[in-house]
Amino acid sequence: MNEYELIAGLETHVELSTRTKLFCGCPVAFGGEPNTRCCPVCTGAPGALPTLNREAVRYAALAGLALGCTVHPISQMARKHYTYPDLAKAYQITQAEFPLCTGGSLLLPSGKKIGIERIHIEEDAGKLLHREGSILIDYNRGGVPLIEIVTCPDFRSADEVGEYLEQLQLIMRYLKISDCKMQEGSLRCDVNLSVHKKGEPLGTRTEIKNMNSFSYIKKAMAYEFERQKSLLSQGKPVVQETLRFDEQTGWTHPMRNKEEAGDYRYFPEPDLPPVYLPEDEIDALRQCLPELPSARLERLCREYRLPETDARQLIKYRNVADYFEKAAHGLHNPRQAANSLLGPIFACFANESEKEACRPKCSAAELHKLLILLEERRLSLPMAKSALQTMLETGRSVAETLGNQNLRPLSPEELSTLCRRAVENSPAAVQDYQNGKEKALRAILGAVMRESRGRADAQECERLLKDLLDHKGN
Ligand code: ZN
Ligand code: MN
Repeated sequence: MNEYELIAGLETHVELSTRTKLFCGCPVAFGGEPNTRCCPVCTGAPGALPTLNREAVRYAALAGLALGCTVHPISQMARKHYTYPDLAKAYQITQAEFPLCTGGSLLLPSGKKIGIERIHIEEDAGKLLHREGSILIDYNRGGVPLIEIVTCPDFRSADEVGEYLEQLQLIMRYLKISDCKMQEGSLRCDVNLSVHKKGEPLGTRTEIKNMNSFSYIKKAMAYEFERQKSLLSQGKPVVQETLRFDEQTGWTHPMRNKEEAGDYRYFPEPDLPPVYLPEDEIDALRQCLPELPSARLERLCREYRLPETDARQLIKYRNVADYFEKAAHGLHNPRQAANSLLGPIFACFANESEKEACRPKCSAAELHKLLILLEERRLSLPMAKSALQTMLETGRSVAETLGNQNLRPLSPEELSTLCRRAVENSPAAVQDYQNGKEKALRAILGAVMRESRGRADAQECERLLKDLLDHKGN
């Protein structure tokens, strides 16, 4: 008997972090006092005329280029009609027949390629607030520029969807066109899902709308997969419908008041001319694409000889990767910089946005100086760790920290003086060592480390001591 297989495609809405909205000068920012960031244009007052924000078009084109799409010099805004209280003018300005970008792909870490059908520009709607039995409307989000990224039906599991969204989020953040904060709704997903038996024709699909958390998406897909499987195995049909995922129960429910796509009555937006993005501007945008996460991952592993697991953590935020490269540049052992960053430095970030900003009290330049001292053996590893901790807590420089704590590194002369003194003060241990008891060296070494209060480099110290003792014997 053939197994049931899931087929899914994704429509992802990404809010662009332009300074102003898509068709007016109202600021784009999350939250704020309700209905303070809107005007006649973004609330759809009759007679108000939209003006296209060029920055939003450039951002959308960058997304398309990063995903290997064709960016079309000419695209067109269209009206999509539907009635819902969060959309005052009863139509959304979007792109329909002529989207800005078509035909790209995204490579999952597993090596699987997810096809991108299209990316189009559209405006966001307002937000409904449920308060004490009544529904209030906040139009601050209305008119915020979005891109909708539509994939081919290439997903076969919820895990693949999770991988895709993580990569997409990373790419958008590297491009600096969106913060992609799911909890603030700047990345939201609709999942189209159908089930069929392998080798048999495709099933009827349903669409689960508007989810903004990885875990909800996984739960919703798992629930919907089971629901459709159970219908099919009972010989019942799957009805094509739009569903809402209920976070409380973990079930999907049909959405009420939902119209079929045929009723949107798309037509070209008469208040806006076609969107024109000249070829040379597209080329200029292509030139200014940053190094993308997958390329950077590969380079960090190669150039700094990092294990892939470490490099993956570093590239997760562009600022973290930048910090690492500044600190690690020119070191013999760049892994030390990765360890400092992934260990003590990450530990002092309270949340994801602090990690994303990556501005610890110890700058990358100061960490670099500290690690150079360590490599030159002017600092022991425990000393370097304690200095870094102090720097992270106080924001002091390396010089200030080592000075203030009287942790100034030992000069080679000081170290050799300490070693000579220890040898003079431990005649019994010296005797033992010279009689062949290698272990006796440990006692003398310990004396030097104590005397230096940890400032001596143990390896260097051992080398010096052996040198002294072996010569003394002759
Ligand atoms: Zn406005
Ligand atoms: Mn949309």
